[in-house]
Amino acid sequence: MKILVINCGSSSLKYQLFDMDQEKCLARGGVERVGSPDAFMTHRSTGNDKVKRDVDAPDHERGLKYVFDALVDPNIGVINSLSDISAIGHRVVHGGERFAGSVLIDEEVMRALHECQDLAPLHNPPNIMGIEACRRLMPDLPMVGVFDTAFHQTMPKEAYLYGLPYDMYVNHGVRRYGFHGTSHRYVSRRAAMLMKRPPEEICLVTCHLGNGSSIAAVKRGKSVDTSMGFTPLEGLVMGTRSGDLDPAIVSFLCEELDKSASEVVLGYLNKNSGVLGLSGGLSNDFRDLERAAEEGHQLARLALDVFAYRVVKYIGAYAAAMGALDGIVFTAGVGENSSTMRKRICERLQIFGVGLDNEKNSVRGLEQIISTPESRVTVMAIPTNEEIMIARDTAEIVSSMGA
Ligand code: ADP
Repeated sequence: MKILVINCGSSSLKYQLFDMDQEKCLARGGVERVGSPDAFMTHRSTGNDKVKRDVDAPDHERGLKYVFDALVDPNIGVINSLSDISAIGHRVVHGGERFAGSVLIDEEVMRALHECQDLAPLHNPPNIMGIEACRRLMPDLPMVGVFDTAFHQTMPKEAYLYGLPYDMYVNHGVRRYGFHGTSHRYVSRRAAMLMKRPPEEICLVTCHLGNGSSIAAVKRGKSVDTSMGFTPLEGLVMGTRSGDLDPAIVSFLCEELDKSASEVVLGYLNKNSGVLGLSGGLSNDFRDLERAAEEGHQLARLALDVFAYRVVKYIGAYAAAMGALDGIVFTAGVGENSSTMRKRICERLQIFGVGLDNEKNSVRGLEQIISTPESRVTVMAIPTNEEIMIARDTAEIVSSMGA
């Protein structure tokens, strides 16, 4: 069975085609700068060189057309006909309370997705556009929606409610939803396998540390708390996002900067804050910051310290919330690759009996246990793979349709 996974962002789309019999990625790539005159696409079939070409993609539908053409191209393609594809799995950022798992997309689901649009005005519209374009191009193909929020729907009320009038939750949907759920779900399952323990027996903190970062408390296989909230702005200090702050700062900044609340939130707190802002505008890329910190750049060092401190604080909070801590997982760009950031964080976790094996911790991009055998908590680096989770969910749903 071949499954195509699509992830549409506001000006880009990414894809991977999987052969699910061996869970093998046959081809991957994407179209960037959709809607701009200098749009281009990349395509790489496994084992071959990457192909890059300029394309005319004024919208996602035209971009997707290039993807489908590349997949069946006699020279660079990997399938003979589009009918070889059994289904498409779409990443959708926000599923609200409606979706606690992946679903087959039909008219009713499309209506519900449009309703969720208000909750995620930045993220859901491009996801919906991608689904609609695929449905127009391949009307007979089953499509599945896989939601970033779904894994966190198991959070108890005490974890997802804010200290606001209850009516805000009931009538306006203001609550913690959490994001990166597909990644937290994937790495928590892999962690249980690495620890050779059933997921139902262990309490994990999974740290997805990338440009956008979030932490989840995964108790006995279920998410019971997570750091991102109503939107992906809450929680950790991120590449360009502030994470947690006193909400009164927003109105203060509106007056100081003479900007509206949405300008402050979108422009300032989402795009100019985080480690980028803390480092005095140096960079949101952790590689630049680590290099600069090593060369003595004080603000770069400070930004990395603030980032690490916030992660440590959340790990402590989640250990208390779960009443146990068996494992810590590091994933995503920073978590998978930065041994110095993992060290910075783990050094401050001695209260939990965390012992890092410096040699094992020096790995990059590999799945392995990086704590010492004596460590009371198993620390792991696990490369995330959201696409394979989307492909698996899609294959499962499509197979059950035929059953
Ligand atoms: P997102 O998906 O949120 O855009 P990623 O998970 O791809 O982010 O992570 C991107 C981040 O990972 C970048 O900020 C980059 O600094 C960081 N990163 C990648 N490789 C390394 C590395 N070797 N050392 C430190 N940081 C790294």
